[in-house]
Amino acid sequence: MTLTTFAPLPVVEEYREIVEDRGYPTVREWKRRTGRAAVGSFPVYSPVEITHAAGMLPVGLFGAGNQIEMAHADSRFQSFICSIVKSTLELAFVDKLAPFDALLFHSICDPARNLASVMARNFPERRAIYVHLPQNMASSGAAEYYAYELRRVAAELGAVSGRVPSDEDVLESIVAFNAMRSRLRDLYALRAERPANLSTAELYTLARMATFTDPLESEPLLADSLRSATTRDARPKDRIRVVVVGSFCEQPPLELIAGIEESGCYILDDDFLLGWRLFRTDVPVDGDPYLALARAYLDGSLHASTKHDLRVPRAAGLVASARANRADAVIFLGAKFCEPGLFDYALYRRALEQEGIPHLFLEFEEKMWMYDRIRTEVETFVESMLFV
Ligand code: SF4
Repeated sequence: MTLTTFAPLPVVEEYREIVEDRGYPTVREWKRRTGRAAVGSFPVYSPVEITHAAGMLPVGLFGAGNQIEMAHADSRFQSFICSIVKSTLELAFVDKLAPFDALLFHSICDPARNLASVMARNFPERRAIYVHLPQNMASSGAAEYYAYELRRVAAELGAVSGRVPSDEDVLESIVAFNAMRSRLRDLYALRAERPANLSTAELYTLARMATFTDPLESEPLLADSLRSATTRDARPKDRIRVVVVGSFCEQPPLELIAGIEESGCYILDDDFLLGWRLFRTDVPVDGDPYLALARAYLDGSLHASTKHDLRVPRAAGLVASARANRADAVIFLGAKFCEPGLFDYALYRRALEQEGIPHLFLEFEEKMWMYDRIRTEVETFVESMLFV
């Protein structure tokens, strides 16, 4: 797989294989080195600051990709359920989740809700903690409710690590994640401004690295990569400019992302790994840290199909991103059977048609043969845009 046409970024080289390794080698190494526990966090958004403040490593759980065969999970779920739910359960059945001392799930959709219960029933020895996210973002009681819920989650996490975090602990972790997210925002801004300098396959690798690395360790790696990518002498290629949306939970494999770029696209914006970079600005570090996290989630976070915020229509947000990035087109890249994504696609499609922005609809699942077909569809779409 070719990620760039010039000198690779050392961090990307180091982590390119690791991001798809469901043996979680770096998590195992971190646990050996620190003697501390790790918590697997199902997407989309997880209160990672609180896991960290409780002395543990928060790690993104993104299913199995195409790394394992389904042998047990199919019998626990219906056939019309997205891949990530089934393959995350399969990882548990084949003992790939052994590095995790607890798992966090959230109220993002019915399959994710059911996964939390099925996981708890089948693996009672590993604590499954369920976070009830606020559903009415505009309610006057939402911030207070969610802060209270986060304190409950902190107590549960503290029972796993043996240390319920103090407010000071949470503030320190907020500072660490603010710094890491700030570097990610810088990298996203560089890619949007100069996409030839930083490919999305590279950016994805860096962002994915941050989902299984202590922010105190990932932030300097992201900063180094930012410096190196900024100083590259890159010549733009003859590609169309696109915004990709729809992969906010189940993740397309790195190979598929690279394939879309190699098929003739510069990706200017995306919703990959959304939960790990959800906040638009730093979370304030004065006052009650739980209330600060709650307010950041309610009022300061990026669009997500699993976050029902009637104050900010997501279709309008997508159009605004396409306009701001001077995109030629939008690619909807959604996980098969993902209802929140497909519901939003209906709204996106209408808004994009009204605005005269071309779009391509693609669906993926964790099966290797899908990727060649998708690549062909992207090539055809790009040709139709370049040679009209
Ligand atoms: S991919 Fe979609 S349906 Fe599946 S768990 Fe994620 S949000 Fe829910």
